[in-house]
Amino acid sequence: MRFVFINEKNKGGEVYLCSMQFSSSLLENAVNEFARLPGIGKKTALRLVLHLLKQDTGEVGRFSDVIARMRSEIKFCQRCFSVSDGDICSICANSMRKQEMICVVENIRDVIAIESTQQYNGTYHILGGVISPLDGIGPGQLNIDSLIHRIEKEKTEELIFALNPTIQGDTTIYYIQKKLSSSENQMPAIRMTTIARGIAFGGELEYADEMTLGRSLQNRLPVEKYVNR
Ligand SMILES: [Zn+2]
Repeated sequence: MRFVFINEKNKGGEVYLCSMQFSSSLLENAVNEFARLPGIGKKTALRLVLHLLKQDTGEVGRFSDVIARMRSEIKFCQRCFSVSDGDICSICANSMRKQEMICVVENIRDVIAIESTQQYNGTYHILGGVISPLDGIGPGQLNIDSLIHRIEKEKTEELIFALNPTIQGDTTIYYIQKKLSSSENQMPAIRMTTIARGIAFGGELEYADEMTLGRSLQNRLPVEKYVNR
């Protein structure tokens, strides 16, 4: 079987075709499956598959078993919608964490990024995206109602928005804030904050865009607080 794909531009700027021919349909199928993964081209897929081919059968069995079990057994936490081994994730089940503090994020990758900082000891709520009318994503498709319900039920004290600094992220924060203030139920006094936005550590002022630099000035910190961190 012959597979033809566009490889890359040559020096003359013309696009040429590179063909990949397989002597085994088993190998070809494996390459095609790997190439379906994001960021993996055909050549990388072939390199990964040939690497697996060099491993012993038991090792490859364990590899495929881990992937298959991850897909079939993983659950989503009923409280925060993060990935979990059970109905409730290990963060929600941890009594050492501040359960009255919720950090609102867009997706699971954000939870992993924040956890990696080891600077946060509360819980999360994964929205599953942000409001984006142009992409056809409205509030009803996100985990917003469950967040409002959770705040009402759990008597949350602080809500931290850790959404991307985009128009869509800001719209989502605004929507949730409005929804909370117009809730018919008696809402507890809740502190709402967003993560600080400003110049990246190691960044240079002259390369920062006006919005980032402007927000950094608006949200400036007392020097004692900055240097004592
Ligand atoms: Zn959870």
